[in-house]
Amino acid sequence: MNRVVLVTGASRGIGAATAIKLAALGYKVAINYKENGQAANEVKEHILKMGGQAAIFQADIIDENAVVTLFSKIKSELGALSHLVNNVGILKPQMRVEQMTAERINSVLMHNVTPYFICAREAIKHFKAHHEPNRCAIVNVSSAASRLGSANEYVDYAASKGAIDSFTTGLSLELAAYGIRVNCVRPGCIYTDIHRDGGEPDRVERLASLLPLRRGGTSEEVANAIVWLLSEEASYVTGSFIDLAGGK
Ligand code: NAP
Repeated sequence: MNRVVLVTGASRGIGAATAIKLAALGYKVAINYKENGQAANEVKEHILKMGGQAAIFQADIIDENAVVTLFSKIKSELGALSHLVNNVGILKPQMRVEQMTAERINSVLMHNVTPYFICAREAIKHFKAHHEPNRCAIVNVSSAASRLGSANEYVDYAASKGAIDSFTTGLSLELAAYGIRVNCVRPGCIYTDIHRDGGEPDRVERLASLLPLRRGGTSEEVANAIVWLLSEEASYVTGSFIDLAGGK
């Protein structure tokens, strides 16, 4: 099987680590990014140096037309998509719900929820048209926030991840009869740039000692779970969640 995977938001953080691990296993990797072409190119070069195959694709994941174009470009450059990692997620500066505007909340939902549906929709078309669907799989990146609520920080973000948990359950049931598996990872405090966007770059350091494992996690530790869920080793796993949150 020609395994072609799209990792959305693969220029940095968890997406970049996942792209590199998948390439090492022989997947052809579509590295999506929004702005940071240099970082995306570094991920690609890293993969090529390892002897893997990858290409970079700029597309703003909130733009439905751009996503449709992205999938056809991937098919032309790497082949029809067989696996999807829905990874892009954003958060906004920390604040309480009583301070939040509709504009902010809508922006979080527009980035963190709708694109997961649209990317899955396009992926399913490619799975059914070009592959044995029962060899295809999707992993959604949610968050421990969906269980914990992110009080005083970003309840809007936590709620968007709650939507991804429900999306995972519903989509996995819709696709189970085709053998297409849909699973989810829920990272906790992971060392990436996302915390800077929340206004607290050192957030993981602040919280690390409060976690049962007494440390933050790495993008590679999350990527290990994503890679396993996508693989044939997880062939009887669908609608499942792996929590990578240091025991919280
Ligand atoms: P990150 O380090 O902030 O990286 C974000 C990635 O997403 C970058 O590659 C960025 O591209 C891309 N991106 C952002 N907006 C985009 C858009 N509109 N279209 C296309 N690409 C876009 O993020 P991360 O921490 O690795 O997070 C990855 C996922 O894990 C998210 O869903 C996040 O919610 C989840 N998560 C993270 C943590 C954590 O502690 N880090 C915990 C729980 C869950 P550019 O480089 O071009 O900007």
